[in-house]
Amino acid sequence: MIMKSSELRQSFLEYFAGQQHQVVDSSSLIPGNDPTLLFTNAGMVQFKDVFLGQEQRPYTRATTSQRCVRAGGKHNDLENVGYTARHHTFFEMLGNFSFGDYFKEEAIGYAWEFLTGILKLPKEKLLVTVYAEDDEAYDLWANKIGIPADRIIRIGDNKGARYASDNFWQMGDTGPCGPCTEVFYDHGEHIWGGPPGSPEEDGDRFIEIWNVVFMQFNRSADGSMAPLPKPSVDTGMGLERIAAILQGVHSNYEIDLFQNLIQAAAKAVGTDDLSAQSLRVIADHIRSCSFMITDGIVPSNEGRGYVLRRIIRRAIRHGHKLGQKEAFFNQLIGALCLEMGEAYPELVKLKGRIQSILLKEEEQFAKTLEQGMRILDEAIGSMEDGAKTIAGDVVFKLYDTYGFPADLTNDVARERGLEIDESGFELAMEKQRKRARSASQFTMDMSNVIDASETEFTGYSNLVDDCIIESILVNG
Ligand code: ATP
Ligand code: MG
Ligand code: MG
Ligand code: MG
Repeated sequence: MIMKSSELRQSFLEYFAGQQHQVVDSSSLIPGNDPTLLFTNAGMVQFKDVFLGQEQRPYTRATTSQRCVRAGGKHNDLENVGYTARHHTFFEMLGNFSFGDYFKEEAIGYAWEFLTGILKLPKEKLLVTVYAEDDEAYDLWANKIGIPADRIIRIGDNKGARYASDNFWQMGDTGPCGPCTEVFYDHGEHIWGGPPGSPEEDGDRFIEIWNVVFMQFNRSADGSMAPLPKPSVDTGMGLERIAAILQGVHSNYEIDLFQNLIQAAAKAVGTDDLSAQSLRVIADHIRSCSFMITDGIVPSNEGRGYVLRRIIRRAIRHGHKLGQKEAFFNQLIGALCLEMGEAYPELVKLKGRIQSILLKEEEQFAKTLEQGMRILDEAIGSMEDGAKTIAGDVVFKLYDTYGFPADLTNDVARERGLEIDESGFELAMEKQRKRARSASQFTMDMSNVIDASETEFTGYSNLVDDCIIESILVNG
């Protein structure tokens, strides 16, 4: 069955509405109730206080299609974009939630019915994982649903693989926690990768589509866990991943929505090679950037705004790599509105604003991109044979003088099989901070003698990096 992403979203919400779930709108990418979080990165974020019992709602079951960004903080998939078939910086998470209402049996039953009954996915291509100690979930899959034992995988504390989770979820160091069960889809043996828990699980053959969390315990500060009086359920399924399966393609970037964005990107950049990895990155980035602006984030040098600026600059650099030296990124907003404007009318409403913000960023960065790339190429060219690491002071100079965030330089390095000296960069940053601090000390000391406008130190504007982002995560 070929189903468009928009039909899939609708079908999911309708199915759960039919199971007495309240359909709730996606919340903003800026978490309203959680200053420790940079972006909304899962469907449960807007319900956190409900799960904690600190907020009451007139319903105990909800379903959403939640816009999510994973480009900073705990969940950061920025480095995966362009490299895996299944990661985006922006994606939509379909979810169903039980607030002390149903638990494992119904949650597993709904997931299975939706996948195999409504979407008609072939059962033999589905695998599930359960938490190693969760016999209850194992038993439900094996005996109630009837999945053969060789396709139910118990996952314990598996920290080996890059994306592996240990199948035990927790909201924080204390508070609600519990085992997960996940559904995976086997895209076929012609694609590299192994089943979850195996050494090859980072490949794209077996793709996680649905993650179901059972909030079963409450963890105290001493580490002990007590059963929650009313256990809850939180689930998340990537819309783009399930769309890929339904459309018979093996990468999220091949679904209808992305193909159209990639074509628009190719046109704006001026290339015919639709398979270019950079086009995927650009198509991914126009979504995260546009939705971040829609939700009120503007490019800046700190916090969320700096993540936005970094993503915009990465997109521009990828266009530049394909030969486009003029502003192009802002033009993609039209194609995005065609794809997503119906589901997100606010995107269309703010189209002009998004475009002008992106254009301004493009114009600003264009001035230094060309020069910065030259410096970087020279630095790489003059590296000794066999050397793999770009020196920290080069990374710092690019950052400080040419506006290349370190992750952008790292992106270029990775394309060429190199890496950056992160600790050398951090050291250079630290020195810069010290200089800035002593300059600001000077400003303060002299402020009563000299006109402040003469002593104003303007070097701070570039002086922002992940440390500040992390401090937002911790401090709000
Ligand atoms: P993965 O292991 O593939 O990185 P995850 O375990 O980090 O996924 P969850 O946090 O469990 O993902 O999120 C729930 C669901 O959201 C996933 O099962 C997947 O379908 C989808 N998802 C997660 N991250 C992304 C992403 N970066 N892009 C697109 N879909 C995603
Ligand atoms: Mg992940
Ligand atoms: Mg996972
Ligand atoms: Mg998961």
